[in-house]
Amino acid sequence: MAQRTNHKGGNREDCCSFCGRRRNDVDILFQGIDSNVSICGSCIELGYKSLSENNMLSASARSEKAKRDSFDLQLDKVLKPAEIKEFLDRYVVGQDSAKRAISVAVYNHYKRLIGANADAAEEVEIDKSNILLVGPTGTGKTLIARTIARLLGVPFTIVDATVLTEAGYVGEDVEGILSRLYQASNYNLEATQRGIVFIDEIDKIARKGDNPSITRDVSGEGVQQALLKILEGAVVNVAPEGGRKHPDQKFVHIDTRNILFICGGAFDGIEKRIAQRLNTRAMGYGRVNTESIDRENLMRYVMPQDIKSYGLIPELVGRLPVLTYMEPLSREVLRSILTEPKNAIIRQYCRLFEMDGVELHFEDDVLDYIVDKAIEFKLGARGLRSICESIMTDTMFEIPSQNIDRFVVTKEYAAEKLERTALKELKEAV
Ligand code: ADP
Repeated sequence: MAQRTNHKGGNREDCCSFCGRRRNDVDILFQGIDSNVSICGSCIELGYKSLSENNMLSASARSEKAKRDSFDLQLDKVLKPAEIKEFLDRYVVGQDSAKRAISVAVYNHYKRLIGANADAAEEVEIDKSNILLVGPTGTGKTLIARTIARLLGVPFTIVDATVLTEAGYVGEDVEGILSRLYQASNYNLEATQRGIVFIDEIDKIARKGDNPSITRDVSGEGVQQALLKILEGAVVNVAPEGGRKHPDQKFVHIDTRNILFICGGAFDGIEKRIAQRLNTRAMGYGRVNTESIDRENLMRYVMPQDIKSYGLIPELVGRLPVLTYMEPLSREVLRSILTEPKNAIIRQYCRLFEMDGVELHFEDDVLDYIVDKAIEFKLGARGLRSICESIMTDTMFEIPSQNIDRFVVTKEYAAEKLERTALKELKEAV
């Protein structure tokens, strides 16, 4: 009888039917029922990887996999809310309410991931704790989101809601957000599915006008509708490189159930709506004591109904259950931002000079001067860096070629350098 052979000339039973490698060249070879076909361990691995990357594993295989992946997701190893806040404190000055709310949200997000890995199908499923940060620009919303991503060691991406449009219109599709996260994860699907997305300027996609049906609102309500799906959790077909979909492009299927969305927006003018609501309540049912209202900072009373009345659709507001606010930055906070955070601006300059063997020192009144100017020019926290750059650029140019080991920045020096910079340039740099 003729021997059955594969293309490399070996017995078929002794070779992998998929890659053709011989039994001796592979770790393990599984025989099929009729011993006519075999498969080696590497080919099984490849097949598994492909199913997993395309979200095509069976439910039980997914659950097994989740259990194996949960090595870092045991509640006793997860940072507690107080520890998460402590980490945030190292980078973000002030904003205590926001930091507390977010620490709890992130802790609950962990619990949710652990819950999702648990066996019992009848267990209570914990809702996603997507977050909405309301507050003026430059108060640390992006910084908080970025710091959380750093803490969790997960991929992170920032998108500007103003560039998003409904699919099919000029602009970026909502799915593009996921392409970016996938790229940020270095094309690692598992990591992407646990990433964090920061959607900035969410207030700019508020519904325009009270009647949604009069005109087509492609960059407003349409985008909100598209966002709903990915915020809640869905498997989305995503073009890995982003851009428009075309027929022969390969897609990845990204499951957004465990992606944490943090949205931020200034919601200019929302205080009026808050005040209105508080005043109404002061007179009617559920009265509040108007005496105790902090009228200087109405933002702290923000409620989901204010966001809805601003023009975010109720379904979207419902999918952002953690609503918290950012305080305007006081003079003291601005002063601390200069020196206190782990990567504070002044510390960064000192480190740069240290690398040239130069000890850099800022006199105290220089720091006050920088803060004064940021307030005077209404540049906020972002302006602190551009002011410092104006003061330090000449020095940074000259010092490496000079033979000195200490440099002191005095107020006179700072004022002289800053006066040469046009205010316009500073504003542009912010
Ligand atoms: P937002 O997203 O609210 O517009 P950012 O987070 O982008 O503001 O803040 C702009 C810059 O200002 C940040 O890079 C950071 O250096 C600084 N900053 C703002 N708020 C804070 C804060 N509370 N603590 C530390 N730095 C801050």
